[in-house]
Amino acid sequence: MFTIILLVIILIIFSAKYPWWLPAKKGLTVLMYHHIYKYDETCDLEKALYVEPKKFSKQMDFLLKHKYTPITLEELSKSYKDETFKLPEKPVLITFDDGWSDNYTNAFKILKEKNIKANIFISCNFIEQKNCMTWNQLLEMKNSGLISFGSHTVNHPTDIQTLNDNDIIKELKESKQILEKKLNIKIDSFAYPSGKGATNKKIRAMVFDSGYSFDFSTKRGITPFKWNKEKAIKRLYIKENYNIFDFYLLITKGKNSF
Ligand SMILES: [Zn+2]
Repeated sequence: MFTIILLVIILIIFSAKYPWWLPAKKGLTVLMYHHIYKYDETCDLEKALYVEPKKFSKQMDFLLKHKYTPITLEELSKSYKDETFKLPEKPVLITFDDGWSDNYTNAFKILKEKNIKANIFISCNFIEQKNCMTWNQLLEMKNSGLISFGSHTVNHPTDIQTLNDNDIIKELKESKQILEKKLNIKIDSFAYPSGKGATNKKIRAMVFDSGYSFDFSTKRGITPFKWNKEKAIKRLYIKENYNIFDFYLLITKGKNSF
């Protein structure tokens, strides 16, 4: 009897912490990564941003096994403009922010092996810098047909809301122009650096006025589909210490804890 009571108490505590019992959320699932690299003392960003290549590979296998279909930003855009173009049943956008070199050396290698599509939000001035990708690498990724790109500003301001209007417009428009010219593609998606400005009406209006059709925040969740533009598209930040149960909860319930 005592054992049963104890088990019930444990189950209640577990269920109060983990949303395993919630119904699955339908919508657009967007994963957010930064580095695909085993964290060590040479890394200068916070540890949570580094997902080990092995772990990333397992997460990709998990998506495929559970019948998710990774899509590109271009396909998302096409599904809005062309009514005859339908997205798969369980679409997932795998996204990377900033433009780190391990996105090419580690992530792209794994994605190519598994034939998985993904997307990178680029901060233009990061390209060709230390620890970042080169334009040639970005072109190679684009030409593989697996990788699509979005803008993440020119300079990755800490908080875009603190810039003056001219500088905000510059960050938005110039990054779009540079990427379109260098990669010879249309850029219509934007991700707010550190998620700052994603709930700011004025900033969002400036994003759309600069020629973007989709904006992505860092707010955790799954966005109802079709998207009505009311709020920036949510993303699921995949952190370094998440296990496969966290990953499962995130992609199905939109959160891995209460
Ligand atoms: Zn960023």
